[in-house]
Amino acid sequence: MSEPIKIAYLYEDLMNTYGDSGDVKILSFLLKEKGYDTQVDNISLGMKFNAFDYDFLFFGGGQDFEQSVVSTDLKRHRETIKEYIDDDNPMLCICGGYQFLGKYYETSSGETIPCLDILPFHTVFKADSRMIGDTEYKTEWGTVRAFENHSGRTYFDDKSKLKPFGQMVEGYGNNPDDKQEGMRYKSVIGSYSHGPILKNENVARAIADKIIAAHKKRLAETSK
Ligand code: GLN
Repeated sequence: MSEPIKIAYLYEDLMNTYGDSGDVKILSFLLKEKGYDTQVDNISLGMKFNAFDYDFLFFGGGQDFEQSVVSTDLKRHRETIKEYIDDDNPMLCICGGYQFLGKYYETSSGETIPCLDILPFHTVFKADSRMIGDTEYKTEWGTVRAFENHSGRTYFDDKSKLKPFGQMVEGYGNNPDDKQEGMRYKSVIGSYSHGPILKNENVARAIADKIIAAHKKRLAETSK
């Protein structure tokens, strides 16, 4: 039997707000349609993890408290996640998971949660409003409709390196100023969209295709 597609769900038990685990279920469904079984591993506190054992990494959203717990464990995995991303492998990060790829997240209680510092952006809280509600935005793959609920405002530090995932039509996205949603870097997508986001079949199918390509690449490399 052929090897299943392997998905690492980072801290599934702690980072899973507003239906984010549905993203992984939708991908498993679409991959099954294309003839691939999937194996989903929850990589939680204290566990060993090598990103190159996987064809896709998923990181969902979380409350500030869970994020502060995860951040202390997550730093062990910085190098493997950085190399995986630099090698152009696919990853989807939602809300708190997205914030973790940047430099830091300053929470509503004034705590600064250190993040992985892999990509040049940071996230800060400002007292006036939480960004909650329906969102709509335009992406390379067409319109996306979803739901956001976050205090953190994300700002790019190096705009030459990062692209926004979408241009806002409704809602906030990264912050109330830029009218942009999420981030793209190589084959990584970061987004504030829950719902889950992959109920938007256009994006789900594009990611499923990237995962199949990554799976073929991994199998070719391991059989060398
Ligand atoms: N706790 C973070 C914030 O409020 C992320 C929220 C989330 O992942 N839903 O900005």
